[in-house]
Amino acid sequence: MENITEHGDFEPKVILRNFEERFFPAVPPIAAIRIQKMENAGCYFPLEDCLCISESIAPSWKLVRIIILHELIHHKLRCENGDDDPKEGARFQAELDRLWAEGIYRKLL
Ligand SMILES: [Zn+2]
Repeated sequence: MENITEHGDFEPKVILRNFEERFFPAVPPIAAIRIQKMENAGCYFPLEDCLCISESIAPSWKLVRIIILHELIHHKLRCENGDDDPKEGARFQAELDRLWAEGIYRKLL
């Protein structure tokens, strides 16, 4: 079977679940993901426990994956101590370093 994180599967929920299992196994999964009209490329709404992707980037398998990873980092940080590090400071950068070392960005950037 093709590795769905590379390019095969465009279904955002499949991508999300795959990333959660592989890179965030100790973090509670996000309940829902949807594509909608929005100004930002993506956003996580904690009250709804929903990750939203802008329909303008949805056709790009790379951008969708980058945004899902970005929002998963915020989600993980929020689960740790209630602070999702919205300005992508030291805690966020440490997560980026971890994911970079795991190689997930090698085919995305
Ligand atoms: Zn952010």
